[in-house]
Amino acid sequence: MTSFNDFGLAEPITRALTQEKYVTPTPIQIDAIPLVLAGRDVVGIAQTGTGKTAAFALPILNRLAANRKPLEKKSPRVLVLSPTRELSGQILESFRTYGRHMRIQSALVIGGVPMGRQVRDLMLGLDVLVATPGRLLDLMKQNGVRLNQVEVLVLDEADRMLDMGFIHDIRTIVAKLPKERQTLLFSATMPREIADLAAHMLRDPARVAVTPVASTAERVEQRIILIDRSAKPALLVETLKTEPIERTLVFTRTKHGADKVVRGLHNAGLSAEAIHGNKSQNQRERVLAAFRTGKVRTLVATDIAARGIDVDGISHVINYDLPNIPESYVHRIGRTARAGAAGVAISFCDNDEVAFLRDIEKLIGLAIARTDRRTSRPAQPEQHRRPPQQAQQRNGRNGHNGHGKRRPGQQQRRDRDGHPAQHQQRRDQPRREQQATSAASHDNIGAVAFMKRAPRPAAAPHDTGRTAR
Ligand code: AMP
Repeated sequence: MTSFNDFGLAEPITRALTQEKYVTPTPIQIDAIPLVLAGRDVVGIAQTGTGKTAAFALPILNRLAANRKPLEKKSPRVLVLSPTRELSGQILESFRTYGRHMRIQSALVIGGVPMGRQVRDLMLGLDVLVATPGRLLDLMKQNGVRLNQVEVLVLDEADRMLDMGFIHDIRTIVAKLPKERQTLLFSATMPREIADLAAHMLRDPARVAVTPVASTAERVEQRIILIDRSAKPALLVETLKTEPIERTLVFTRTKHGADKVVRGLHNAGLSAEAIHGNKSQNQRERVLAAFRTGKVRTLVATDIAARGIDVDGISHVINYDLPNIPESYVHRIGRTARAGAAGVAISFCDNDEVAFLRDIEKLIGLAIARTDRRTSRPAQPEQHRRPPQQAQQRNGRNGHNGHGKRRPGQQQRRDRDGHPAQHQQRRDQPRREQQATSAASHDNIGAVAFMKRAPRPAAAPHDTGRTAR
């Protein structure tokens, strides 16, 4: 299977793919598309960046093309549930892009924006509905949507929905769907709760799996710069001025930190925008659109805000702060090197973050190339600091919050000094979608590039206004 023509997809779909310059299906597409076309339920283990959206959207569109039905108001034939507004918007965009030569009616139901337009869209009748669970439930309660015509259900990023506390909502929604349906579940990881959910909601599912989370690390050229915390602003300016950057996503741990970084860049004469949970939906969309078109080349984001951002051509990810959850590092650097393209991740690590770095390297199984530009060293030499395991045992904890073993899918969180945090929420997510120099020593080891693949052809910019409506 080396070409999209081999799947036997309807001509309007392959025509759209040619226009998008999709030539070779990605591994998840090769595995999942024939199964979905055959009507099987599918559990797909794949993270964003693997091409999983097309893996479900293309065969679903094919089904709609093969079996046209008159539109019924409020009653979608396809329901896609996703954890965040941004991801939902991108999924809808994908359906519209791949279905641009078909008369497909689609709509978006997400929180944080007025409900009126969504109610009107549903009243007109539709084929595909992409929704976040909270807002969909609200609309169900006021009878704005009927789910008894749903033929295909997609649960995307199921593990994130679990993290964000949506599992109960999902069970409530799924209880309203016809029993006779096709169900597709995609998740980057398979914690026990998701496996249980799949066992209840899917019928004899086929399993396809690609790219375990940590292997993103192998595609991205990674560098660590050890730096004094006070020197980070100047280092960021220097990096942005000297690196051959097409588009860069800069990560900070806090919203306040993101705003501060943007102010610092503006003062240095560099343009940048922040995206985080305190911004309105309109502001976020405006900033994302400017980033996508290249008007803004530097976007500063928190982990939550960056979740699900799917922008092609992010050449660099800069970790202004290192995340205290090692998996977040993998998710962050996965924003570059999308769909097999090469990318660079540069992380600034101050003395307080060295423990985070150690956890990250343990997770990805790689020692990342370091440059040391610190003028001060930690009071305790690094090699004599307590390893994480001992630290936990000394506190009488078993790796987490004093209540025994970590639950599957739960992450070890540390405070800035590298100690396990005392009072932990589940990851960094909000519950619902509204809820994210002077160089003393230079041991320039140079960057190590791991398994870089050829960049994929650039996709044509998406045209949002191309729905049939
Ligand atoms: P996803 O994993 O669905 O978030 O997709 C990641 C990115 O890869 C998106 O920007 C898609 O437009 C792009 N993409 C998906 N499949 C292909 C393909 N077969 N060839 C080129 N680009 C693709």
